[in-house]
This record gives sequence, structure tokens and C-alpha cells, in this order.
Amino acid sequence: INILGIESSCDETAAAVVTNGSRIRSSVVASQEDIHREWGGVVPELASRAHLENIYPVIKKAVDDANIDLHDIDAIAIANQPGLVVSLIIGVTAAKTLALTLDKPLISINHVHAHLQAAILAEENVELPAAALIVSGGHTNLYDCESPLDLRLLGSTIDDAAGEAFDKVASILGLGYPGGPVIDKVAKKGNPTAVRFPRSMMGKDSLDFSFSGLKTAVLYHCQGQDMKGTSQVDKMSEQEIADIAASFQAAVVEVLTRKTELAAQQIKARTVLVGGGVGANSALRESLTRSCEKSGRNLLIAPMKLCTDNAVMIASLAYHKYKAGLFADLTLEPKART
Ligand code: ATP
Ligand code: MG
Ligand code: FE
Repeated sequence: INILGIESSCDETAAAVVTNGSRIRSSVVASQEDIHREWGGVVPELASRAHLENIYPVIKKAVDDANIDLHDIDAIAIANQPGLVVSLIIGVTAAKTLALTLDKPLISINHVHAHLQAAILAEENVELPAAALIVSGGHTNLYDCESPLDLRLLGSTIDDAAGEAFDKVASILGLGYPGGPVIDKVAKKGNPTAVRFPRSMMGKDSLDFSFSGLKTAVLYHCQGQDMKGTSQVDKMSEQEIADIAASFQAAVVEVLTRKTELAAQQIKARTVLVGGGVGANSALRESLTRSCEKSGRNLLIAPMKLCTDNAVMIASLAYHKYKAGLFADLTLEPKART
């Protein structure tokens, strides 16, 4: 079964052809990072226009790279939620058009659930239940995963998402956009115990997260003890900045690791699954590896390339819906939230 996956939920236009849910025949991602960088965040109007420009070339390249005839595609999968509606609408419209003209079934996919599929992908025998952590730009969710299509939400952030915290702290430290990759890099030269930033645990047994206090603590730290509101970052040495970045990252990683372990204990998970952009973070990957070694659980983290937005995860999850006969029709709409 060959599925063409399409993704346009935020600022990446992506298409991929995946066979039987795991064999990646092509994967094309057009990132809009350069467009949004000067604004320090995603500008919906600009994102929508860029998707419109990129969507057909990206789909065409995915089909060409896969070396497949468009008519040999068995289904069209589209991430229709959650995300920016003005972005989603471009992919949804393209997917419907293809489904209609090729007379193939349309499959709707939840983008956040698909981030998890990136961790499972080629694994034949995932020992379930699994505790699943999705850490991305807009979400920090823990799930009880009974199957790729069966996720029960156990906890989530009450304010900022983990990726959002990385992006905001990078901006406070004058490190640019997007913040995750640059903090990861800079932190390698810093001392993670230099500053003791708060670890918000939301109560001993809670599986919810809060990262806005941590972000504020970094801001205050950068304003010095007088807290007069002027950032001292310009006067800091590279080493001081690296120390703050490493200390911030250590706080996020510790909370994510402890909560994931707690979720795994609560549902007696044999496996831990991790997906989403922050899953690319080297310190988080190391910390989860250590924690799962200790607890004897299998750890499946999405490969680096499939942590951030892509369409392989869309096409891969769609295979499970295809097998279950779960199809959408041409009235499918984009949804900002799920
Ligand atoms: P969502 O999936 O919640 O709708 P999104 O699609 O924008 O949001 P992703 O593409 O999954 O999010 O991830 C982007 C986020 O991942 C950004 O916030 C980025 O800073 C963060 N990120 C990317 N690489 C790293 C890294 N190495 N370390 C930490 N964070 C990272
Ligand atoms: Mg993105
Ligand atoms: Fe995403």
C-alpha cells in the first residue's frame, strides 16, 4: 500500500511517499525558517502564502523521488489538525483535489499523534503499553499508547510548550530563531549546573507540565539582581551565555525525563516513545536513554530527521487508518485545535 502524505500545519510544507507504513520511498520538506526568522516567530499570512507556492512542487518532487506513478498511489493522507488554519487549509485543499481527481481515498491525520509515529515507524514489535512523550513547538503531551491509533492523554503543559520555551529563551539570550537547535549547540560548551533554575513538577504525581516560570526565571537572571528590566545579555561573555543555556536546558530535560518515567510507572509501560522537534535535543536523548536503561524499558525515539515536521510520519500513521478502513470525505475541514 503506497500512501502519499501531505503536511502543512505550521511552517513546513512537506510531502512523502511511504509504502506499508514503514518503507520511506521519498520525503520532501520545504522549510520556511528563513522567511520567519526576521520576525522571530511564524507569521500566519506569510506561512500561508509560502505553502501555496511550495505545495505542488513539493508534492511533485515527492512523487518523482519515489519513482512511482501518481496512479499507483493508494491513498492521500493529510494533516488537517491541529495547527494554523491558514496553513492547514492549503494542504487540505491540495489533498482533496488529488483524492478527487485520482479517485483515491482521503485519510485525515492528527499532526501531533503523527509525531509519535515517527518513533514507531519501522519497529515491527513495539511492546505495549507505551508511555509516549510528544515534545514539539506547540505541545508537551504524555500519552498512554495502546496502539498507534489509540492514545490516551495523561498530561500536558498548562502554559508554554517545551519547544516554545526553547524558542523564547533563545530569544532572551539573543541566540536567534528557531531556538531549539541553537541552544542545543551552545549548551554543549556550557556548565549545566552554573545556574539552578526552577524545576516545576506541578505536584508529586502530576503528569502536567509548566515551563513559563522557568522562562521568566531565565529572563530575571539576565536582568541581574536589580531587575530593572534591562537585559544584561549584551554585556555577558560567550561562556556566561553558554552556562545559562546549558542550565536552562538541564532544567527542561530533568522535568521531561522525570515525568516520562513517572508516566511509565503509572501505566506499567514496557516501552517509552518520544517524538516531536524537542526530541532532537541531544541532552534529552541522553537523559532518556540513561533513565530507560535504569528502569529496563525499551526506548524508541524518532530519528533526528523525523523529529521536526515532515510528511513521512503523516503517511506512516495513515497506513494504520487505511488498514482500519478509517477514511475522510471531501467535506474534511482544517481544525486549529483537537
Ligand atoms: P506542533 O507539532 O506542536 O504543532 P511544531 O510543528 O511547530 O509544533 P515541531 O516541528 O515538532 O513543532 O518542533 C519545532 C520545535 O522543536 C521548535 O520549538 C524548535 O525550537 C524545537 N527544536 C528543534 N530542534 C531542537 C533541539 N535540538 N533541541 C531543542 N528543541 C529543538
Ligand atoms: Mg516548524
Ligand atoms: Fe509538529
